[in-house]
Amino acid sequence: MSRAAARSQGTSADPIVEISGLHKAFGRLEVLKGIDLRVRRGQVVCIIGPSGSGKSTLLRCVNLLEEPNEGTVVVNGHELTDPDVDLDGARREIGMVFQAFNLFGHLSVLENLTVAQRKVLRRGKAEAERIARENLEKVGLSDKVGAMPAQLSGGQQQRAAIARALAMDPQVMLFDEPTSALDPELVGDVLGVMRRLATEGMTMLVVTHEMQFAREVGDVVLFMDDGMVVEQGPPAQVIGNPREPRTQSFLSRVL
Ligand code: ADP
Ligand code: MG
Repeated sequence: MSRAAARSQGTSADPIVEISGLHKAFGRLEVLKGIDLRVRRGQVVCIIGPSGSGKSTLLRCVNLLEEPNEGTVVVNGHELTDPDVDLDGARREIGMVFQAFNLFGHLSVLENLTVAQRKVLRRGKAEAERIARENLEKVGLSDKVGAMPAQLSGGQQQRAAIARALAMDPQVMLFDEPTSALDPELVGDVLGVMRRLATEGMTMLVVTHEMQFAREVGDVVLFMDDGMVVEQGPPAQVIGNPREPRTQSFLSRVL
């Protein structure tokens, strides 16, 4: 489905991710100092900012890999910060792709894609394999179904990790610097897969240093510094014409 079609379904106005008053500290180190964020269905939000500004922590709070000290996180109607929430159920709807490719090294690519489908979603072998193959095709890895992760390039491993997340039918995809560990010539393929995913209407939160990607694919760019959202808006504004001195200074270093 195109993004326009996804929008015209009339669901795009609902926030699918709603974060309010989020605070997170590690001991005495305050890492998130009150974050509010609403993401509409089908939106791509790119999070940029210097190292240590809290980007990964924010992303990890979205699926409660980090437990906030304060504030609420609601994803697709599940309040993950509610102590009574079915956390496993809520997390099932959230796919995550990290900087380091987290494939299981002892399993083939196909098995990497089927194991959680079978264990978590209770899909049968044939169905899980069919869905795995569909998603591998989507990321251009049909010919690597039987390969072991070590036989793949970093870019292929990362695309397999994306396919694995997609096989779980996520409502939201979180990406934490998915191309930062890749050799430069492999970055384009991974960004291409993400770009297509965005076009198909997937809701995505992407921490990235790829300003070109943020500019072209992001609906919203959020600049974080020191645990706060300093500036957010359309990429043409935040990257093209930033208002805040801290954003300007960051961009002058990375662009
Ligand atoms: P970014 O992704 O923007 O580089 P992070 O969210 O990884 O920033 O980290 C923000 C701050 O929190 C950093 O100072 C980092 O050292 C600290 N931090 C992150 N995770 C932990 C942790 N598990 N324990 C203690 N400090 C942490
Ligand atoms: Mg990080």
